[in-house]
Amino acid sequence: EFLRRPLIAGNWKMNMDHVQGITLLQKLEWTLDDAKHSFQRVEVAVFPPFTDLRGVQTLVAGDDLDVVYGAQDLSPFDSGAYTGDISGQFLSRLGCTYVLVGHSERRTLHDESNEVVASKLAAALKHSLQPILCIGEGLEVRQSGDHVNFTLQQLRESLAGYPAESVDKLVVAYEPVWAIGTGEVAGPEDAQEMAAAIRGELVALYGVEAAEGVRVLYGGSVKAASAAALMSEKDVDGLLVGGASLDAGEFANIVRFEQ
Ligand code: PEP
Repeated sequence: EFLRRPLIAGNWKMNMDHVQGITLLQKLEWTLDDAKHSFQRVEVAVFPPFTDLRGVQTLVAGDDLDVVYGAQDLSPFDSGAYTGDISGQFLSRLGCTYVLVGHSERRTLHDESNEVVASKLAAALKHSLQPILCIGEGLEVRQSGDHVNFTLQQLRESLAGYPAESVDKLVVAYEPVWAIGTGEVAGPEDAQEMAAAIRGELVALYGVEAAEGVRVLYGGSVKAASAAALMSEKDVDGLLVGGASLDAGEFANIVRFEQ
């Protein structure tokens, strides 16, 4: 049995328009022929582009799908003169359960600092969204051997001000940047090393009981073929999947990692 209910999350990034997104979700539901069983054991979440969310909401509610969904980012602000940004308030009204915060592509391409990430975590909580905080080191840091220190510092700084009473809402995704979209998946023991270190840091910050409840995901070039070994690690509670989540069959096989 799992200590924590596994979460398999598909980050569509800037792929799948609102028609393609609906088709993908319908295929996913059909492909998971034992869907009810899979969905009970494993929580399945997808992260479509903002423009797909309304369509996904309608499909999920109308066809009673078991998948949950979230957004790939949110604004730290509620409303106002922030052209192009999307508020957590809008996302929760669209039925989002989760929101990704601090994905490496946001940190790199949009210069998001840990401070900005911390303010987005606060905005997520304010609007009843469960944040999936993404952290992880780049190639240079990995090669220097400082990956644990680097990632834990990112964790601490991103969680600055994060309230203890909301730790049960938090999900942390360890996503080494060198593994994202590169085809180079981290070994299960590398994923476990960092997941355990992250949990250790959460123990230091919030205590054992709270830390034991937090799901720690691994992300970076996960495919169906690598899912089972990663999920067999004690502190790896789920997977954040980019490229492989765009193929319904491949993603369904990741969800069914036990089979
Ligand atoms: C991601 O975007 O979070 C990710 C892990 O991407 P990929 O699976 O394509 O490496």
